[in-house]
Amino acid sequence: MQKNIVSLKIEEIKGDSMDIIEKDGHMTLRMKSGFDAHAHFRELDQLFFTVPYSARQFACAVAMPNTFEPLTCVRVVILYQRSAEKYGQENDQSFRVIVPIYLTDEITPMIMRTAHAAGICVAKLYPMGATTQSHKGVTAIEKLFPVLSVMQDLDMILSVHCEVTDANVDFFDRERVFIHRHLSVIAQKFPSLRIIIEHVSTKDAVQFVMDASDRIAATITPQHIMLNRNHLFMGGLQPHNFCFPIINSAEDQMMVSRAIFHRRFFLGTDSAPHGKYQKYYDGKGGCFTSPYALELYAHAFEKLGALEILEDFSAIRGPDFYGFAPSENMVQLTRAEGIIAQERAIGAHTMAVPFLSGHMLNWRYDAAS
Ligand SMILES: [Zn+2]
Repeated sequence: MQKNIVSLKIEEIKGDSMDIIEKDGHMTLRMKSGFDAHAHFRELDQLFFTVPYSARQFACAVAMPNTFEPLTCVRVVILYQRSAEKYGQENDQSFRVIVPIYLTDEITPMIMRTAHAAGICVAKLYPMGATTQSHKGVTAIEKLFPVLSVMQDLDMILSVHCEVTDANVDFFDRERVFIHRHLSVIAQKFPSLRIIIEHVSTKDAVQFVMDASDRIAATITPQHIMLNRNHLFMGGLQPHNFCFPIINSAEDQMMVSRAIFHRRFFLGTDSAPHGKYQKYYDGKGGCFTSPYALELYAHAFEKLGALEILEDFSAIRGPDFYGFAPSENMVQLTRAEGIIAQERAIGAHTMAVPFLSGHMLNWRYDAAS
């Protein structure tokens, strides 16, 4: 039987250190610096440009390993983590990056033990072909079971891109089918394994997490709260609203919006920049959210009557699930209107269009301290 999601919300709210200050008609939010549990920094010269967008707004980011050559080996994961962190620390010395190891059919239990010994605490599962650079993803979930068993023993986190890539499944049902066909099997077979459903986009996924144990959580992007699938088509095709998993129906959007109140859902921008010509000519999926991430969430949370839980969602729950202490640094947002830029650099010769470019947001990110 389906639970009433609305009734779940109040008991799950926590977080009391956030200040909402109203003075002389001005409103500011002062809260702990956040944890972006899902970001794409890309690679090579793009790291130099993309990491600072996240480092400016967050204390820590989980950088996804779907680079052109996916990060499947322990040494390469650590090298990538160090170089991403270095670029972020030019902006903020305390900035931290976590990089999952990318799961393939070739990853063995021994490799996973080595990864864990090297300090890697999370592995990312991409079904083959599900999103950008997922050509080396897993071809059959069952092949992973010995590795998942080791991860469960070591208390590692499985981060999952929950979409089937079966061409016979309707594009808007890919997440639902993955949940029912695969994730429920994994969760049942490995009940102590910590799992994060990344960028939850459907009511089925929200319900799955709410019905699950404390070992299962999910990240939420700005776009899956702010938009539904009508926004892909209104005013002509909107390539900058297109991502994986695709934004879904208004009902799905409403359920994802409700889920922000639950303590096992937390911030993961899934900022996924593509050069603007790649967007226009190749139709690449991904919303570039990192330059305005906190402003986007604050704007959406205010509309949902949820400003008072923004710190909990952005800075407490994610680290808590990962087993880290939240950042001691503080950030501040001021209620002031601002327009999202037309484009921002993501490489020496590459510009990308930020999500909701040209739109007005009600909040302005001020500074970290
Ligand atoms: Zn992603």
